[in-house]
Amino acid sequence: MQSAKFSTLPLKKPLLTNLDTLGYVEMTDIQAQSLPLILAGQDVIGQAKTGSGKTASFALGLLNKLDVKKFRVQSLVLCPTRELADQVAKEIRQLARAIHNIKVLTLCGGMPIGPQIGSLEHGAHIIVGTPGRIEDHLSKGRLDLTHLNMLVLDEADRMLEMGFQQSLDAIIDYCPVVKQSLLFSATFPDKIKAIASRYLRKPEHIKVESVH
Ligand code: ADP
Ligand code: MG
Repeated sequence: MQSAKFSTLPLKKPLLTNLDTLGYVEMTDIQAQSLPLILAGQDVIGQAKTGSGKTASFALGLLNKLDVKKFRVQSLVLCPTRELADQVAKEIRQLARAIHNIKVLTLCGGMPIGPQIGSLEHGAHIIVGTPGRIEDHLSKGRLDLTHLNMLVLDEADRMLEMGFQQSLDAIIDYCPVVKQSLLFSATFPDKIKAIASRYLRKPEHIKVESVH
């Protein structure tokens, strides 16, 4: 595929400048194919192998939408494990370096709940976490998704393999109707198709074979 540059995207200026600083010049295939749709507000299913740059696809999408002056949870990213959630939060923070006072909070299972409750009371713009723990906070009324405008299911196939189907269903019930949803997965078995058709609205399915 012909190379495409981030500078051709309708991204906010600070994000473009920061991408330059980070040395992100050319988009990977999944980024080049998904970002124009994501930035246009469409629901997208992104299917691509590990290492193809899926994180930046959704991270730039949610950061471009974000209103940092509004200190409410505007994006929720669900990941299968704490390690992946930490990696995703790190990448979001790096891509968001040019946006001051942005708060990204990770909420994962296996971590003490007390500090998470404290952090939630302080507020956040972006939440990254594992489904079980997110469901727990939602069911206790500690996490308010009223202002959510972007829901991301990252590594959806692995979340299902790990038995998170019920938590995902419960979380979706807490999400407001008006939102954009993105689903990323390396594989696309029937169970993912079913989830996609239940959670996403008229999604564009992008499948990329290459990693670059
Ligand atoms: P995936 O989620 O598809 O497995 P990642 O989003 O973790 O892949 O990306 C893999 C690596 O590639 C990360 O270290 C990320 O920083 C880097 N990367 C992603 N997109 C680009 C790009 N366009 N230019 C340079 N590096 C990139
Ligand atoms: Mg990934």
